[in-house]
Amino acid sequence: MSHLKLSGISKSYGQFNALEAVDLDIAKGEFVTFLGPSGSGKTTTLMIIAGFESATSGQVEIENKSLFGLAPYQRNIGIVFQNYGLFPHKTAAQNVYFPLQMRGVKKAEGLRKAEEMLELVGLKGFGHRHPKELSGGQQQRVALARALVFEPSLLLLDEPLGALDKNLREQMQIEIKRIQRALGVTTIFVTHDQSEAMSMSDRIVVFEKGRIQQVATPLELYHRPQTRFVASFIGESNLIDVKITDAAKREARNDAIGAIQYAPSNRPPTGSEATLMIRPENIKLSRNPVEGRHNVRMKVETIINYGDNALVVGKVGEQMMRVRVLGADVVIIKEGEECCISWLHDSVYLIAK
Ligand code: ATP
Repeated sequence: MSHLKLSGISKSYGQFNALEAVDLDIAKGEFVTFLGPSGSGKTTTLMIIAGFESATSGQVEIENKSLFGLAPYQRNIGIVFQNYGLFPHKTAAQNVYFPLQMRGVKKAEGLRKAEEMLELVGLKGFGHRHPKELSGGQQQRVALARALVFEPSLLLLDEPLGALDKNLREQMQIEIKRIQRALGVTTIFVTHDQSEAMSMSDRIVVFEKGRIQQVATPLELYHRPQTRFVASFIGESNLIDVKITDAAKREARNDAIGAIQYAPSNRPPTGSEATLMIRPENIKLSRNPVEGRHNVRMKVETIINYGDNALVVGKVGEQMMRVRVLGADVVIIKEGEECCISWLHDSVYLIAK
């Protein structure tokens, strides 16, 4: 049974449709990430769930009860924004106590709960400090404690790590997951950082232009993207436009590469246009053709070395190809030279148009 259910949510600002027909079911205890480019509708969806925006049409339900007409504070939802929103004149403990105070919890009990929550987020002993006496990461932990202290039925995190530097960001990703698991709270996390989404989520919802493109686990999204947009947005990919020449034999044709075979797929029929996806790490670079693989010749244009691996970018005719190789393999080739690239049919994934 779904804990949170969105049905047919649309949102228009005048003529502009910020969201169109968004349907989504989230199970209790799930950690779900909204991922998509800037302006794709992630925050608007979150604000509609929280009650700060109203949908033009559609319905939001928690545990089968409609939230229609309920003000944000009546929804029992904890929220953390990027800019923390802590009260500067209150201490960390008073900030965390605040939502309990609003719910009529007595001061002594509320402050005790606030201290417990501060301990859970790793801030034991910091309760007496004011926000300006805390680092960015610590302030974000206080904001998290404040969003969780009243045991919300849903936790919404809107780019909460956006203002933190890379190391702190990674540390907080681990912390947020730990706390979310410990409490089992259903969570929606908004980000436009795909690696953050991949590492943290049970499932990812990919938004583009106000529509949901795909809802899936991180691995499913990576290996079986349903659209060209998802394939290009999640990880690196080689996307090759083809025409299906024989669907039964799983054969397609690209002008630059020629005939290509693809992995089993039940769509689309012979004659249709489609896209083939090959991930750069599934392509091998060599001087000579490799037996048992599909080989083509590539002219190497650029090699970007990352130490333990390198990205080799080149052209097969007019088709740009990207190949990810392990550090030692890259020495066999130089920019401007021709080489062989090869792949297995099973790593060629077909995306219908
Ligand atoms: P970001 O990652 O940049 O936060 P987002 O995916 O969260 O982007 P939203 O903030 O949900 O995107 O915005 C979706 C679209 O709705 C955008 O094109 C935005 O300009 C538009 N929009 C949002 N609020 C309003 C408003 N009050 N009036 C008009 N248009 C709006």
